[in-house]
Amino acid sequence: MSAAARQTRLGRFRVTALRDANFALDGGAMFGVVPRVLWEKLTPINEDHTVPLSTTPYLLQDGEHTIVIEPGLGLRWPDKQRSMFHIDHSAGHELLASLRAHGVEPEQVTHCLMTHGHWDHIGAACGEDGAPVFPRAEYWMPRSERDACMNPDHLRRASYRREDLAPIEDAGQLRTFVDQFDILPGVKMVEVGGHSDGVSLVLVEDAGEKACFWADVVPTRHHVHLPFIMAYDMNAAKSFEVRSEWIARAAAEGWTCLLYHDPEQPIGRFVGGDRRYGWQALEVSV
Ligand SMILES: [Zn+2]
Repeated sequence: MSAAARQTRLGRFRVTALRDANFALDGGAMFGVVPRVLWEKLTPINEDHTVPLSTTPYLLQDGEHTIVIEPGLGLRWPDKQRSMFHIDHSAGHELLASLRAHGVEPEQVTHCLMTHGHWDHIGAACGEDGAPVFPRAEYWMPRSERDACMNPDHLRRASYRREDLAPIEDAGQLRTFVDQFDILPGVKMVEVGGHSDGVSLVLVEDAGEKACFWADVVPTRHHVHLPFIMAYDMNAAKSFEVRSEWIARAAAEGWTCLLYHDPEQPIGRFVGGDRRYGWQALEVSV
């Protein structure tokens, strides 16, 4: 028997899929223009037409740096949203508990990388007390996403919460970049856009191996096929362009792919070519 792996090695880095929460979003919105008759075969569907998702932060450790990629949706949610989005932190699925289960205290985290400012990605960047959860970390985010989150316009208001970010900026811990930035040797954030103004990929490279954290560019294993673009995406044409370029590159070079919203298979590879791609999970024998 085999099970989906939650940990792997990439050069000098140990890469671990942590746990933040299980939640759910509307199935139609998750699959955009893809007809339900196609996507309903891929995923369970809840009674209210939502589909099960998770928020999966990743821990990157090389002995010197302790990096959290995408903190999660966190604990600061009123009952109404908890119930609407089926937010579930049971079974120890919570960022800090998950880090501690891997022997990491919040003070040890050196970098927290945030691909964009949507609430399901950075809600956990601050704790229940509203203060940054990682007191010593540099928090990194694209400048465009910082601006969208701090001053969301009408269209963006449902996706951003200023209170997720303002305390980090006030504490002097927020760092921003434009286009792309080498966070440290072998770890780079690249702003691509499409899904949101500045959604970024996190690229990890060491000893000839490469990995990519896909954020909402490829949220689950069912979104590897190029036309499977979420209705949430601000600019679907741009998303298609970004996905066409980066998914092709990842498949051709056999990158380790880290998926944020897949509830079952967080780590794997894109397979295929010639604009038709699929997914192969990294498995461990049990
Ligand atoms: Zn998003």
